[in-house]
Amino acid sequence: MLEASLAVYSWPSPLGSSGSRKYSRSHDLVGCHLANGTTRGGIASRLAPSRRALHRLRGGVASEEPAEAPWDYIVVGGGAAGCVLAERLSAEPDARVLVLEAGTDGSKDLRIRIPAALIKVFKSERDWDFNTEPNAETNGRSVYLCRGKVLGGSSCTNVMLYHRGTAADYDSWVEAGAEGWGPNAVLEYYRKAEHSLTGASQYHGVGGPMPVDDVPYINELSEAFMDATGKLGYRRNQDFNDWSAPQDGFGRFKVTQRSGERCSAANGYLEGADRRENLCVRTAVHATRIALDGEGDDLCACGVEYRHEDGSLSVAQLAAGGEVLLSAGAVQSPQLLMLSGIGPRSHLEDVGIPVRKAVEGVGEGLADHPAVLVSCGSKKKVSVTDEIRLFGTSLPNPVTLLRWLLFKRGALTSVACEFGGFFRTSADQSQPDVQVRFIAARAESADGISTLQKMGEGAKMGSGYTTQIVACRPRSVGRVRLRNADALCKPLLERVHLSAEEDVVTLREGIKLGRKLCSSDSFSNYRTEEIYPGADVTSDEAIDAYIRSSVHSANALTGSCRMGRESDALAVLDSELRVRGVGSLRVVDASAMPHIIGGQTCAPTIMMAEKAADMVLAQRAALRRYTAYVAHAEAHGAQAAYGAAAQQVQGGAAA
Ligand SMILES: Cc1cc2nc3c(=O)[nH]c(=O)nc-3n(C[C@H](O)[C@H](O)[C@H](O)COP(=O)(O)OP(=O)(O)OC[C@H]3O[C@@H](n4cnc5c(N)ncnc54)[C@H](O)[C@@H]3O)c2cc1C
Repeated sequence: MLEASLAVYSWPSPLGSSGSRKYSRSHDLVGCHLANGTTRGGIASRLAPSRRALHRLRGGVASEEPAEAPWDYIVVGGGAAGCVLAERLSAEPDARVLVLEAGTDGSKDLRIRIPAALIKVFKSERDWDFNTEPNAETNGRSVYLCRGKVLGGSSCTNVMLYHRGTAADYDSWVEAGAEGWGPNAVLEYYRKAEHSLTGASQYHGVGGPMPVDDVPYINELSEAFMDATGKLGYRRNQDFNDWSAPQDGFGRFKVTQRSGERCSAANGYLEGADRRENLCVRTAVHATRIALDGEGDDLCACGVEYRHEDGSLSVAQLAAGGEVLLSAGAVQSPQLLMLSGIGPRSHLEDVGIPVRKAVEGVGEGLADHPAVLVSCGSKKKVSVTDEIRLFGTSLPNPVTLLRWLLFKRGALTSVACEFGGFFRTSADQSQPDVQVRFIAARAESADGISTLQKMGEGAKMGSGYTTQIVACRPRSVGRVRLRNADALCKPLLERVHLSAEEDVVTLREGIKLGRKLCSSDSFSNYRTEEIYPGADVTSDEAIDAYIRSSVHSANALTGSCRMGRESDALAVLDSELRVRGVGSLRVVDASAMPHIIGGQTCAPTIMMAEKAADMVLAQRAALRRYTAYVAHAEAHGAQAAYGAAAQQVQGGAAA
């Protein structure tokens, strides 16, 4: 039976943990270069940190174990961005790359592999299960935020929709000071990451690690939905990622699936790379702090402290010239910075963390896509849930399960919202402010995510269909704050949704559109009653009250350590994703986005990590040139060469 088949699969790494004698409680996905402290030449060995620095790193914090060789790159978090960095950086054969991931390998877990089985992941051990702080804007409720705690991160727990937003989204990044992140620059990396099953074009790449395809399943209610959009006169959008045409209109969303199965960033980027000798992916370890060396202008990252499952601590050390790349996601990257003493001064003092660098923007600007539902009942039992469940009971349908297991086809390949579109609620909007996602299932609660949870727990599902209304370019921003100085404590997520009144107006107009679509003649053979918001919710005031009491997350957390110009007091990162005022430290994940984009955020995060990897490798090449010049100068006693070397570094880093 489906539920039984989806029991937790947690097994050791296919390659064992042979290389990790020191870290017996952790799972290294690649056995490599540990314990004996050997180095492999290259920059790492030539520019090893001083004994004093190593001593300081371990002193009093980490266990007294023999040191392993330092790493050129320590990637914190093996999620969507972290997997990209792991693959791209370890493609340099002499770069030693370490990934520290709190979750474990999920590549064999059917709850992750089967698209429709995602419902079993919510609030499981593979979910960090965050919640916003209750506030008046959400009617005193806290909003549940799923985040993947697994190798591949939230790309293992997401809905797989493949969207990039619009060219104008990236123009707005450049306007915010993210130089070099305009539409043409980012398009190159989107194409590099993509393997489009519909072929290459100006906007689509072929041969990249992430397959982009259609879901191989169409529910008849989705056909009715598309019929309704046509009859109501909306544009048909054949490709939401074609920037030569408007984003407005309705159509079929693309997804990151390979033949009916999820392709996460871990599948796409690590399969193959995980056999590289110079890449070590250490799972089931929780990074607790970035180790810092120096003071004032000389402050720089020199390692990462992390905790094993048994509670013991270790420190991974950074080789001179190396970098710590923080990819723990929009909640935990700012959390880790603050735990390390990098953040808003008064907040750090309040929670008793010594300030190493006051950076006011850390944790600020946390954005998300708020969502609400319009849901109707259906007299015909044709919902996707009717196909997954046996005759309307809570029992799984063995035929549907077999279809997936044998052919990777049928209702289990559904991501719930294969069809939908983008829409402007008023002519004043320069871009669509609403994304509509059509779901061929009935909501069992106004707060969409708890319907999925209930289904995951085995509740009976009625028949019906739903439009999910997402404010896709919201104005509200909240923030991440520490609850206390405990690295294992979930942070505070404050005022993330609906702090800006404009978002309520957008959702209100979106509900009116959703109602129009759901009550169109195209659904006359199906529709019974409107379940949510409900026939009595008609005035603007009543709709607004419904929005505040049911708003939920469309899972697009971004912006909490954003890029921006130096004059922007809240911009944490420069345009190369470097933390301002702290050497050897970048943030590479969804938190770096200057503005949330109008579309889902996984592909953009992967694009950012692709571009970041090129930046890191350019810096490495510049450092190599510098090292060669210094060696040459020392050999020939030519002082003048130092000046030339410095110029080379500046030129190389900028190139
Ligand atoms: C339910 C859901 C549905 C979504 N649907 C879509 C969709 O359809 N399309 C889309 O494009 N996007 C979607 N997203 C969003 C998308 O998946 C994320 O934007 C993207 O994964 C962000 O990538 P990231 O690298 O910033 O963070 P993540 O992918 O979340 O990776 C962060 C990683 O860091 C690890 N980590 C965190 N803290 C620590 C620590 N202290 N020590 C060690 N490891 C740590 C985590 O375990 C995780 O593996 C969805 C997300 C969710 C949760």
